[in-house]
Amino acid sequence: TAFNAAVDGADALNAFIVKTPEHALAAAKAADDARAKGETLGAMAGVPIGMKDLFATQGVQTTAASHMLEGFVPQYESTVSAKLWAAGAGMLGKLNLDQFAMGSSNETSYFGNVISPWRRNNGDTAPLAPGGSSGGSSAAIAARLCPAATGTDTGGSIRQPAAFTGISGIKPTYGRCSRWGIVAFASSLDQAGPMARDVRDCAIMLEAMAGFDPKDATSLDMAVPQWEAGLNADLKGKRVGIPKEYRVDGIDADIARVWDDGIKWLKDAGAEIVDISLPHTKYALPTYYIIAPAEASSNLARYDGVRYGLRDLPQGAGLQDMYAATRAAGFGPEVKRRIMIGTYVLSAGFYDAYYTQAQKVRALIARDFEQAWNSCDVILTPTAPSAAFGLGDKTADPLSMYLNDVFAVPASLAGLPAMSVPGGLDAQGLPLGLQIIGRAFDEQGVLNAGLAIE
Ligand code: GLN
Repeated sequence: TAFNAAVDGADALNAFIVKTPEHALAAAKAADDARAKGETLGAMAGVPIGMKDLFATQGVQTTAASHMLEGFVPQYESTVSAKLWAAGAGMLGKLNLDQFAMGSSNETSYFGNVISPWRRNNGDTAPLAPGGSSGGSSAAIAARLCPAATGTDTGGSIRQPAAFTGISGIKPTYGRCSRWGIVAFASSLDQAGPMARDVRDCAIMLEAMAGFDPKDATSLDMAVPQWEAGLNADLKGKRVGIPKEYRVDGIDADIARVWDDGIKWLKDAGAEIVDISLPHTKYALPTYYIIAPAEASSNLARYDGVRYGLRDLPQGAGLQDMYAATRAAGFGPEVKRRIMIGTYVLSAGFYDAYYTQAQKVRALIARDFEQAWNSCDVILTPTAPSAAFGLGDKTADPLSMYLNDVFAVPASLAGLPAMSVPGGLDAQGLPLGLQIIGRAFDEQGVLNAGLAIE
């Protein structure tokens, strides 16, 4: 079938960890039957999507791209995936990602790199990173293996891979999509969202994914707006803020050019452009890389060899030995690094100096945005400080990898909706993304600015 062909084509990119064409086919058949009977179709009826392998799917292996969860088959379905099936979508398979969603290049996956379908136009055929952590999602959509996929975004994992592969993706306001059944990374930051070819598809899919869920204590108890019906690229009366702190020294010339193009397009759409300041931006990256590992170290304590997935029980070993052996074998190096950083910043002697301090700075970063909303309605920035880099280019230096998240993490720390849309190409023909950040709950304003750019 066409589904099988699409899913087999994914092999060259290593985008899928598990393929489930029968699931997508069943959804397509159900849509056909409903249409034949004259029934009303769900908003995603028959659409074959990819599911990031961080969402628990009942009866289908769910790994978070970690050896720790290899072979784990959930008895339950995540709320977001259940909502997508209820809207009629079907699943082509579980998409590769950075292990436990920790990374910016999809190179920390236990199941191997995902390869971007993009190549430079200068004869350099080196394989490129699809971004991360939702790198399977971005590569599969960019290669047209599926029209849309789920992503999750803790500190940029929807937006940065979307930017690297020339597609669109939106992280909604924290709490819009239920976290129930999503493998937890940093619970105060984790948000699910759609990744797709254009803004309209993102709006349709986000509507299907979002909504209050009593099973998630931080779920927003608010009605889901009709974002697709509300799409409007006329920005008359809207003010777009340009934060001076994102115009970092040595900003890549191509990125500055695409940013200027974006400003012009929004002006052409009727918006007023205003200069704004987000003074605590420079602290966002260190703040994120304290809070995210701290929460991860707590969340990952559940992988003890008893309850989920892998168990390594050396001959004659006791409980402590089993914990140690299981974690040594199950977690990849980046996950171990995060657990160690997180445990350190939460330890009695360093808690105040790191974790408490980071929480205070997080509040200042959120306040920067609150003040900015006095003079603008949305904010426009580049999504990432570079185009896609080569596989292997940053793996030896974790800090240079973390730096790629510099423009993405402030909106995450503030819990704000933020989207990446394609902005143009760099000198080597690689896509560059533009990021739109909006007020809490104003996904519509974000989508509309994205539509004006698209
Ligand atoms: N790249 C960031 C990190 O490694 C963000 C990951 C994410 O959003 N899941 O933590």
